[in-house]
Amino acid sequence: MTAQEVLRSGEVMSREAANIWIRASDHALPELLAAARAARDRFKPGLITYSRKVFIPLTNLCRDYCGYCTFRRDPGEHGAHTMTPDEVLAVARAGEKRGCTEALFSLGDKPELIFPEMRDTLRSFGFRSTLHYLEAMCDLVLRETNLLPHPNPGLMSAEWITRLAKVSPSLGLMLETTNLSLLAAGAAHDNAPDKLPARRLRTIEEAGKQGVPFTTGILIGIGESPSDRVDSLLAIRDLHQRYGHIQEVIIQNFRVKSGIRMQHSPEPGRGEMLRTIAVARLLMPEMNIQAPPNLSDPDYEQLLDAGINDWGGVSPLTPDFINPERPWPHLDDLERRTGARGFELRQRLPVYPEFVAKAMNRSELLSSKLSTSAGDTGYARRAA
Ligand code: SF4
Repeated sequence: MTAQEVLRSGEVMSREAANIWIRASDHALPELLAAARAARDRFKPGLITYSRKVFIPLTNLCRDYCGYCTFRRDPGEHGAHTMTPDEVLAVARAGEKRGCTEALFSLGDKPELIFPEMRDTLRSFGFRSTLHYLEAMCDLVLRETNLLPHPNPGLMSAEWITRLAKVSPSLGLMLETTNLSLLAAGAAHDNAPDKLPARRLRTIEEAGKQGVPFTTGILIGIGESPSDRVDSLLAIRDLHQRYGHIQEVIIQNFRVKSGIRMQHSPEPGRGEMLRTIAVARLLMPEMNIQAPPNLSDPDYEQLLDAGINDWGGVSPLTPDFINPERPWPHLDDLERRTGARGFELRQRLPVYPEFVAKAMNRSELLSSKLSTSAGDTGYARRAA
């Protein structure tokens, strides 16, 4: 079957066809996008979702040095900070007042392994490791507020997935890429040992074995080829086919920021972004495909034309600490632009409706909070 026939048939795209279409010319792009939209409208009709969240940057110390990262700091560097429990709770409570249902915990990967200062900070809080502290903060937010935690702490062992899944309905780790050569000297993942693709795939697989709803995705424009993008998407699809636990696949685009190692690297163009999203949709037509609107401003609604069905976490309160120069759109604007393309914008929880059942019964506290937050259909319960 040719790539054109695959598009017309509505069948799942093959690796071979994906490798052709991810390089589609501008001339062929409308045909690809139309096929992706048809697949999205067949499996995810009418609704575009988002999660109303607060961003909790628990610590920006990190043992990795990714070339595109503006978030991480070394101890003593300007802006280096590990949040106290009071700070965590203050942000979560402020989010609760603004109708948020997700506390997104973003943090560097195991900074205590290389920084004695982080070990001291953790000791002063009464914890042995960043993951122990994260677990306690997820528990605190779950107990004290109506927010549901969604941690993105980097690599996790089987034991830590079990522990964190008791205090959060879903977990996340971006695969980013399967391209091993990006760990070479001078490349995007130089001096970033936690970005070894095999280790990230192992974490995602372990979550699958335990049936934990999981968010992952790819990062485009960091030195990988179009074929690498296809390989990465297929690696995610393969794990989902085996375990059925990937609740969403994020397609994130690299944006240049001043002060990063990759500040002179080219950004992926809009066409590349649209092609990648469309191919992702056609490789896994029934899955949730997300792209963040703030990284595609000012014309972010174009992402809808490529087949996404989710905008990801959008905060009415906290900036995107990972991309601080790119504010999230105002929720009214998001609703207006989504509506102009013919969709209803619907607030979901950090765990997608079809995965709520998987998150239940991991702990009494989590089950009771989930029952309170989720409406009959599994989306965020609407305010009375
Ligand atoms: S992207 Fe994540 S792992 Fe890489 S340096 Fe930044 S915080 Fe650390």
